[in-house]
Amino acid sequence: SVDVVNVHKSFGDNDILKGIDMQVGQGEVVCLLGPSGSGKSTLLRCINGLVMPDKGHVAVGGSLIGRKVRDGKLHDLRGREASVQRERIGMVFQQFNLFPHLNVRDNLMLGPRAHRLAGKAELEEKAGLLLNKVGLGNRADAYPSQLSGGQQQRVAIARALMMEPELMLFDEPTSALDPELVGEVLDTMRSLAEEGMTMIVVTHEMTFARGVADRVVFMADGRIVEDARPGIFFDNPETERARSFLRLV
Ligand code: ATP
Ligand code: MG
Repeated sequence: SVDVVNVHKSFGDNDILKGIDMQVGQGEVVCLLGPSGSGKSTLLRCINGLVMPDKGHVAVGGSLIGRKVRDGKLHDLRGREASVQRERIGMVFQQFNLFPHLNVRDNLMLGPRAHRLAGKAELEEKAGLLLNKVGLGNRADAYPSQLSGGQQQRVAIARALMMEPELMLFDEPTSALDPELVGEVLDTMRSLAEEGMTMIVVTHEMTFARGVADRVVFMADGRIVEDARPGIFFDNPETERARSFLRLV
């Protein structure tokens, strides 16, 4: 589960997040929608600890993100401690960020190897299973440049799953893809959702949001403006902000 409590974040004079409260239950899928610049990516980055809120906090599975308690006081996590915590949260970006000099199998194994999660043989087997799951069981030896954008993005999803994340964050995972490749990535995400993965997905794919999300959270100007079941949000939005957003997408 995810608890976002009164999160504020400014960059210089710009207040980007102005008091965000959001809960996501175990196994829930939330689509985060909103106009460009409304703070969606910044919120995702607060949730996985890439950005520290100025005020408020985030907890995932009951653990505070980016902080620990020692001697009765809160301390910021640094370096390795911070990265170990971040690995519990899978993140998939618009750009796939695969390592171009490593083949698909080695892209999957790099993170778990660095964290010594298991032996090589076991990780290889796991990589094979996850590649099957995303429909790329026969491409383990390929290099990223030999794959389509949709295939690369499915590798990126499998790579995140190698760490057995308790939460998956997606930031516009299909925005950089040619239209004909979007469906295969959304299908992979849909099956992950059906398996019970907790997911927060920033997307412009309204059909996906309507069909897969348990809830839609609509942000505008650094605040959550609506938080509703997709049927209610799409058919009967409460605010003019949401109505004008939906007219444009
Ligand atoms: P988009 O739909 O375009 O991706 P978004 O809702 O994800 O938009 P954010 O990326 O969270 O919006 O950005 C919100 C605002 O915060 C933008 O004006 C952006 O320029 C600013 N911002 C984000 N990160 C930083 C940073 N590290 N330093 C300064 N400004 C930043
Ligand atoms: Mg963004």
